[in-house]
Amino acid sequence: MCIFEIFKQERSFFLSKSIKNAILSREWKKAVQNGYITFYLQPKYSFTDEKVVGAEALIRWNHPKKGPISPSEFIPLLEKRGLIQMIDTWMLESVISQIGVWNKLGLSEQFQISVNVSADTLQSSQFIKSIKRALKQSEVLPNQLEIEITERVQLQNIHHVLKNLKCMQKLGIQIALDDFGIGYSCLTYLTQYPVDTLKIDRSFVWQLPNEKNASIIIRGLIQMAYELGMKVVAEGVESKEQYDFLKNHGCHTLQGFFKHKPIPVHEFETQFFRKPAAV
Ligand code: C2E
Ligand code: CA
Ligand code: CA
Repeated sequence: MCIFEIFKQERSFFLSKSIKNAILSREWKKAVQNGYITFYLQPKYSFTDEKVVGAEALIRWNHPKKGPISPSEFIPLLEKRGLIQMIDTWMLESVISQIGVWNKLGLSEQFQISVNVSADTLQSSQFIKSIKRALKQSEVLPNQLEIEITERVQLQNIHHVLKNLKCMQKLGIQIALDDFGIGYSCLTYLTQYPVDTLKIDRSFVWQLPNEKNASIIIRGLIQMAYELGMKVVAEGVESKEQYDFLKNHGCHTLQGFFKHKPIPVHEFETQFFRKPAAV
């Protein structure tokens, strides 16, 4: 039985949760070993000088029979089943190892790659140990790594999350609050979490510049982030009009199809890293 079929049988009464989880873990390891799981990188651009200042790593799963399966389809299911830590740890180790390779080729110390980490994963102290080990092994500076906290599941242990986030920030790892403005990612976290960057959710960006309420909210978020000493990234920027609005209102960084789609790592290397002016 493949991982995809187990997903479809979410409501099956024949398999217990622990058996389903065991099969999922085994299938995941097999998919990684067979090279069906990879990640793409989407560049992030500075509004000030249009340079690429970093990238977001996005997981990709190319199923041998079903073809590409969107992370929006499988990530929430793995979160629900409590298996997301497996993916997040694999992503972090893979991204850190890639930064290590590029460091040896002269990657700028300022260039940051961000990894999406489910808030559920942040509850584990094992996860912090994996990051520290990976950074040391690949000789990567903590500030070359950013984690984007995504929160779609209700947290069981906010104290552990906080402790781990503070530990990461102390190390020098950057922390971004993803999908800001929707779901659980709310204002309360700004006072609780040690946050360096706010990522404005694309559901607001899409409505720019004509939708009055979205425009007011985005202007307010940029101002608030500025006063809190945080950076702001606008995600999902698709048009010149959206770009102009964000630039004119002092947004720091943009990410979106208007500039570039996520691409495989080797393409990213050729397009950006091999051009010293860009990184
Ligand atoms: P996200 O973190 O909000 O990532 C941005 C998503 O928006 C990506 O979708 C990206 O391809 C897409 N995107 C970027 N620019 C544009 C644009 O201009 N227009 C539109 N329409 N879309 C744009 P993707 O790669 O399908 O990822 C979906 C979500 O899956 C991510 O949303 C993130 O929450 C989650 N995800 C992806 N990789 C990981 C991972 O390694 N770990 C965890 N926990 N979650 C992940
Ligand atoms: Ca993200
Ligand atoms: Ca996002």
